[in-house]
Amino acid sequence: MIKRSFFGLVKPKLQYEIIDEAQAEPVSIKASKQIMLYIDQSLENTGNALLKTGDPVKAGQKIAMTDSVDYLLSSKSGQISKISTFVGIMGKKFTSVTIDVDSESSQTVDESFKNVCQTPSLENARDFLAGLPGQPDFNGFFDMDKPVKAIVVLGVDDDLLSTTNQYFVKNNIIAIKTGVDLLCKITGISNAILIVPQHLEQVAGSSGAIVKTVDSEYPSAHPELIMQHILASEDGKSKSKSGIAFFSAEAVCAIGAAYNTGKLPLEKIVTFVSKNGNKQLVSVPIGTPIQDILNKFNETLNDGDRVILGGPMKGISAFSAEYPVLPDTDAIIIQDKNQITERSDTACINCGECVRVCPANIQVNQLIRFLEAGQYEEAADQNDLFSCIECGFCSYVCESRIPVFQHIKLAKHTLESMKAAEESNA
Ligand code: SF4
Ligand code: SF4
Repeated sequence: MIKRSFFGLVKPKLQYEIIDEAQAEPVSIKASKQIMLYIDQSLENTGNALLKTGDPVKAGQKIAMTDSVDYLLSSKSGQISKISTFVGIMGKKFTSVTIDVDSESSQTVDESFKNVCQTPSLENARDFLAGLPGQPDFNGFFDMDKPVKAIVVLGVDDDLLSTTNQYFVKNNIIAIKTGVDLLCKITGISNAILIVPQHLEQVAGSSGAIVKTVDSEYPSAHPELIMQHILASEDGKSKSKSGIAFFSAEAVCAIGAAYNTGKLPLEKIVTFVSKNGNKQLVSVPIGTPIQDILNKFNETLNDGDRVILGGPMKGISAFSAEYPVLPDTDAIIIQDKNQITERSDTACINCGECVRVCPANIQVNQLIRFLEAGQYEEAADQNDLFSCIECGFCSYVCESRIPVFQHIKLAKHTLESMKAAEESNA
């Protein structure tokens, strides 16, 4: 809910969703006939692809086209029926792997992780657990130039409307403790911090981690702001992001459960928001098409309606309801075409709303002039483009309905692609 000052000079306030006692348990959605996984690898670079159409797949098996560290986990056994290229936002290419799912009674499970789970280590966590719900990232622990000094578990949701991570703190705190203990054991790091909203501070105390709270005002749960405002007070100075490994509460629960049982948890908890604004947690096998969730709630997608992956501030539009639930899909919002605020070509009126709300203190009204003119290097050199933490607040408040946030993301992506191309040529 937005609260705007009568005088217009105080920045508007957006409140995070708060999970309450009445929150219903997640609705379980059964396996689809097909699941689909988008791997962060382009088919063009996979001359000797590890997988091909027709290959059988077991539940929990790693799905990757090369033996790089990027992979996903199949949530069901079945047979690969299609491998193709999927072009995502900003033209980024993924490999889409479609699996025809075996019937429930003939599901088979990959035992590779079970064979190593008795000896928890960073290596087997990286090799088997990076595709768990919440998409835990272990790569930072292998960067010897930037040693990780602290583990931060996010028991907060980083966008509005979502309650996925709060659900795990409220209902699975012992599983979080197990996951935290395991992470500390395999990393040798004793400094684990659990970040929660104020109303979950008491329950979080059983996690065994140091508990810190954030307030309910958006975007206080953003990792960059957590580092600036909460973790900095730990040692009196700002910590660099490279010294901190962030994990979602869901991922930490999944890591603990995986090592405790030898079985990989492959169901994702997602906050589903229907067109009429009803919010419901759902539990779905990773790879399930969004259409299956729509079917469960008798929700119809008409021409012009929008499917948003993530929250209303930072989420991205999916191109179709066939898009799958992936390990990092915390929320899915369905918007009726009549609810969509159209963006416009209206010029900036210099109202200053974007500057007032920007948590990175960027002069967004000046930045947008460079971005609209395509002067990305000037935007980076003269207007703090790369200080933007991508909270999306500027777009939300823009009086002229300029898609400021999208301009920023495009500019960053373009500059980073240019830099990567230059390095590759060199
Ligand atoms: S998206 Fe970036 S520029 Fe816009 S308000 Fe957030 S931090 Fe500031
Ligand atoms: S909120 Fe929009 S119109 Fe107002 S100064 Fe910022 S970019 Fe310009």
